[in-house]
Amino acid sequence: MTFMHLIELVYVSAKPPLPPGEIFRIQDAALRNNARDDLTGVLLFSRDCFVQCLEGEREQVTRTFATIADDDRHRQVALLHVAAIEERTFGDWSMGLLDGESPAVRAALNEIVPGGLLLPANLDGDAARRVVHRARTLHLTRR
Ligand code: FAD
Repeated sequence: MTFMHLIELVYVSAKPPLPPGEIFRIQDAALRNNARDDLTGVLLFSRDCFVQCLEGEREQVTRTFATIADDDRHRQVALLHVAAIEERTFGDWSMGLLDGESPAVRAALNEIVPGGLLLPANLDGDAARRVVHRARTLHLTRR
């Protein structure tokens, strides 16, 4: 019998200015690869920041995180939280996408980060974990 070791991983990174549509190209690759690799999660972005949660089998999460961390479409990738989980939070999202600049998202995150503003400097492990779990209750920018 093979045991699944499920984990969730949350990182934050600095987002440089990206060409129009690049976020959707990133999400398209994530949707394609994550469905293949049985990974799920959410990607939030603001003007200056990405916050992403990946969940799945621990070796696969680690492999994909290594690929993402090497991507030059962001910088200063900081791993903030890794934990074993019994079940997935984002089981039906191969990679949900949320615009952290939208008023509804900022209002929802206001109780976690000052002004609801996603900035790498505003996020420690606990805040980043709370942000992604709060994101589960919000309306996605694009599924
Ligand atoms: P490819 O088919 O090689 O590329 C997919 C598309 O991305 C193509 O349009 C290609 O031109 C473009 N592209 C690839 N790498 C770069 C680059 N370095 N600079 C500019 N354009 C590029 N991948 C996942 O599999 N799962 C994720 O959850 C995930 N999340 C990400 C979150 C962020 C914030 C970022 C920046 C990237 C993420 N990625 C994710 C993408 C990942 O870093 C790799 O680009 C991707 O996994 C490569 O997959 P591929 O070989 O199938 O894509």
